[in-house]
Amino acid sequence: MSVGRIPDNILEDIISRVDIVELISSYIPLKRAGRNFRALCPFHHEKTPSFMVSPDRQIYHCFGCAKSGNAFGFLMEYERLEFPEAVETLAKKVGVSLPQGQKQDSKTASLITQLYKINELTALFYESNLNSPSGLEAKKYLLNRGINEMTVKLFKLGYASSNWDTLINHLRNKNIHLSLLEKAGLVLAKDGGGYYDRFRDRIIFPIFDIKSRVLAFGARLVPDTGKAAGKDDSPKYVNSPETPIYIKGRNLYGLNFAKDAIRENDYVVIVEGYLDFIMPYQGGQKNIVASLGTALTIEQARLIKRYTHNVVMVYDADDAGQMATLRTLDIFIEEGMNVKVVSLPEGFDPDLFVRKNGIGNFKQRINQAENLFDYKLKILKSRYSIKDIEAKALISSEMLLTINRFKNAILKAEYVKKLAQELDISEDALLQEINKIKEDKTYSDTYNQSPAKKASNVNPTEKLLIKLMLEEEELISHIRERLEPADFQDERTSRIVSLMFNLIEQGKNIEPNRLINYLNDDSISQIICESTLLPEIPSENKENIINDCIQRLKNARLRTKKQHLHEQIKTAQTLGDEEKLHRLMQEFHCLIKGGVGKTNEEKRIY
Ligand SMILES: [Zn+2]
Repeated sequence: MSVGRIPDNILEDIISRVDIVELISSYIPLKRAGRNFRALCPFHHEKTPSFMVSPDRQIYHCFGCAKSGNAFGFLMEYERLEFPEAVETLAKKVGVSLPQGQKQDSKTASLITQLYKINELTALFYESNLNSPSGLEAKKYLLNRGINEMTVKLFKLGYASSNWDTLINHLRNKNIHLSLLEKAGLVLAKDGGGYYDRFRDRIIFPIFDIKSRVLAFGARLVPDTGKAAGKDDSPKYVNSPETPIYIKGRNLYGLNFAKDAIRENDYVVIVEGYLDFIMPYQGGQKNIVASLGTALTIEQARLIKRYTHNVVMVYDADDAGQMATLRTLDIFIEEGMNVKVVSLPEGFDPDLFVRKNGIGNFKQRINQAENLFDYKLKILKSRYSIKDIEAKALISSEMLLTINRFKNAILKAEYVKKLAQELDISEDALLQEINKIKEDKTYSDTYNQSPAKKASNVNPTEKLLIKLMLEEEELISHIRERLEPADFQDERTSRIVSLMFNLIEQGKNIEPNRLINYLNDDSISQIICESTLLPEIPSENKENIINDCIQRLKNARLRTKKQHLHEQIKTAQTLGDEEKLHRLMQEFHCLIKGGVGKTNEEKRIY
């Protein structure tokens, strides 16, 4: 990402027209908190909001995971864009036109852009294969299964032939480097050098993101051709590995096709596999997505939450009774969403169900979906006798795990009441038990993305001074008279301060937002954002605090210098370098006249 390519004045023009509060609140709900806005962080899992947005400063910072930045940074992180793409998106939004040549050309396009391009070419290639003689069997299979031509076209279904190098040869002719194909997860390296196609003799399902870009591929065996199926027992489905643009559990298959219908109907149907999605969609159940895996992630829940708060989960009979499977639905409750469950009869998945019983029956099942609480309780009651005391305790503890996820205290209390009635237990006993659960570590551990390390284990004094300087430009000149950048011991804060001094000298405007663009370094940007969003300092204390901070930094620097000299003196003594020793001692005496007294060890030496 090169900031250099887009002139600073254009970046500033864009940034000055964007309102970060408006931008971020189009993705997540923000609540006012004094001068700032607060929200649950969209980048890590948390229960109490530590994500702050400053309308004055036009930046955001999470005190939990330290993600931070300006409007460009937010778009890059949230939409997974590269810097030039984020600039282009915002420029379009606010009506700033970028100079010609700033738009990406293929030579300098980022890796990410190249991977999208390769995936697009690959999808086209597989698609054309499906309609060629080699794809005849696969095409016949799809049509026989009831998937019509229009659907095949809409989802860009394709076919990878049984040869080992068809895709490689096709893309090599388009001058695409094989190492890039490997990064895209499309080819595998051979032991003796060279590569071979990952997908062979399989039906291909391109996996799209919300903007309909191809992220990755799923590939299913073509039954009865016997080639891949017979010889080894290859798995029915093979998927792309994770790549720089494809991270499992971050998106939902079909959401790009279904999002409008989800919004209109105000609920989403979630199924597991490609065909479980395609058959109902073709039949007219348009508000549907596939999870591509049974355990839903917090990111997927939040993706859905942008369109609706209501989820209907469809399970095959064998999954539907599994407590572990049901427990993963608690994620929606924790996100304040409503979950219902549909289970299909023994031996059916949504694909087969629609083919055998028709879409009308499928829709009817969806309409009869049961609330997660009722459903879970029903399963537990069918499994254990509630006449048995031990079983009763077991059922209630399983149910309380779910109830405990409700953030809303009223809902929590009502469900406890309901459970007490259903199990004929006193409400008090249940309340006592639920209080024991408190923080369920295993849950948050499972779904917590490991938050980024706090970058800013920077000296608090340095952070505080930076905060104050960013608030009042006059203060910068004042501090500049008393401190130099090198007085800030952290290399990053020192760079920030030095930039501020330079800009002030040039009569330029200092805004955190702009510094971030100038410095273009994630960990520096974190320090700027964190400092900016530190709690306000009451103005009556400001002067004292500033003087105190300046003094502390001076003392700290002196101490460091002294330590350094001390080391040098010791070395000179060991080496018997009299001349050097003499010079260093003189230096040392000058230094301590400056104020910092000798330590006991130093007194002993000199
Ligand atoms: Zn965070």
